[in-house]
Amino acid sequence: MCYIIGWLGTKIAPYYLQKITIITNENQIMFINKVSPSKIKVYDECKLKYKFKYVDYLQEKSTNTDALQFGSYIHKIFEDGVGSTTTEELNEIAGILRSNYTFDKQREAKIDICIENFLVFNNSLSSCEQVSTEQFFAVELKQGYAVNGIIDRVVKNKDGGYLVIDYKTSKRASTKRDLFNDPQMLLYAYAVSVLYSVPIASITLSHYYPHMDKLVHVKFTEAHVLMYMKKLTQKIWEIRKKKKTDFYPQINQFCDWCGFKDMCPKFNPTTYAAEHAKALKNKKPRKAWK
Ligand code: SF4
Repeated sequence: MCYIIGWLGTKIAPYYLQKITIITNENQIMFINKVSPSKIKVYDECKLKYKFKYVDYLQEKSTNTDALQFGSYIHKIFEDGVGSTTTEELNEIAGILRSNYTFDKQREAKIDICIENFLVFNNSLSSCEQVSTEQFFAVELKQGYAVNGIIDRVVKNKDGGYLVIDYKTSKRASTKRDLFNDPQMLLYAYAVSVLYSVPIASITLSHYYPHMDKLVHVKFTEAHVLMYMKKLTQKIWEIRKKKKTDFYPQINQFCDWCGFKDMCPKFNPTTYAAEHAKALKNKKPRKAWK
């Protein structure tokens, strides 16, 4: 794994001087050594869900398998077909991959339009340098502690500006305001600035919705990203201080899709404890850290 410290990392280094820990029971200290956009998103949405997922390490039940499978399928076509210039090439890739994914007919009907729109979008980027697709990144903030994740695609234009593209297949497109406050976009901006040693001001962050042919994009200032990183540090310290009983349920717009609803006291006040105990008893052992 490659850890990179860049110019921005050195600027914020004073905020990252301590080992990050959370107490999981009376006798055990667990070290948090990685934070990702998805972890932060879950923590912001619901503290109890965060605990189930990242403290108890319970497997979340799939609640919208078709949507997840369809999204993964489209991502894979775009990853494998990034160099394609015709519909035929993309259709061939789509055909080869199709048997690996299961989703309903409603989504099946969207494949053609996604491919057609992607082709036009992809061709519009033909003068750009393809910097990466599905790139794993791990940016060190201090020894043994890092931000990590995977960025769908990064391209560089002739002026030296970077465009970060996150493919989305959700029904509703995010607004610019959503992106402006999105931890994932802020962390991607930080990571790309460190990975490629470029100023934040030259990075555009975007969602591309192929079924709508919609690109929503924002830029951040360095001050905005630094402020977010400072808040992120405070959040990590907040987690560090928590005891198991401090992770409380927070009803939110995503509860209907929460795979831990069975063990949530807000939705199952009489059976949640038994469900949680059962899940803890049946959980599979985690793989050792590498
Ligand atoms: S159902 Fe909602 S409140 Fe309950 S754990 Fe899941 S996200 Fe949290």
